[in-house]
Amino acid sequence: MNEAQPMTTGGCQCGAVRYAFKGKMIDPSICHCRMCQKAFGSYFAPLGGVKDADLIWTRGKPSIFKSSSVVERGFCKACGTPLTFKYHHEDITDLALGSLDHPKEVIPVIAFGTEAEMPWFDWLAGLPAKPTAASTPANLLDAIKSYQHPDHDTKTWDAKSSE
Ligand SMILES: [Zn+2]
Ligand SMILES: [Zn+2]
Repeated sequence: MNEAQPMTTGGCQCGAVRYAFKGKMIDPSICHCRMCQKAFGSYFAPLGGVKDADLIWTRGKPSIFKSSSVVERGFCKACGTPLTFKYHHEDITDLALGSLDHPKEVIPVIAFGTEAEMPWFDWLAGLPAKPTAASTPANLLDAIKSYQHPDHDTKTWDAKSSE
């Protein structure tokens, strides 16, 4: 791997699993299929491809669940964050876009699995909107101590997920 190229980084919520890759993601997407809904506990899965040769695990490794005879899904076994989707026959690993340190920088270009799309998906953007500060008491916000890994690499990290 050419380390001179800038690396994109990300990882799970607790920080036990971290990755880095070079180059642009292949076909960043959202997938509405029922398997992705279950795997992410969500209405869709945001995923972007990286060539296996361009991807390194810089801390820990994902645990694997085989969701079908042709697909493996990776996740952090300490905190449960979904991290990867991979077809056995491809040399590409899809990474969960929300796990990127800077997810705003990758814009999805296609939607898959639309047969299972929530019928009210388009309506979501119009929901009444409240930022966290408007829906959480200030004294609670002040008292919260986050155990989430920061959105950048750390030299050492004491994952607090078992507390
Ligand atoms: Zn984790
Ligand atoms: Zn899917």
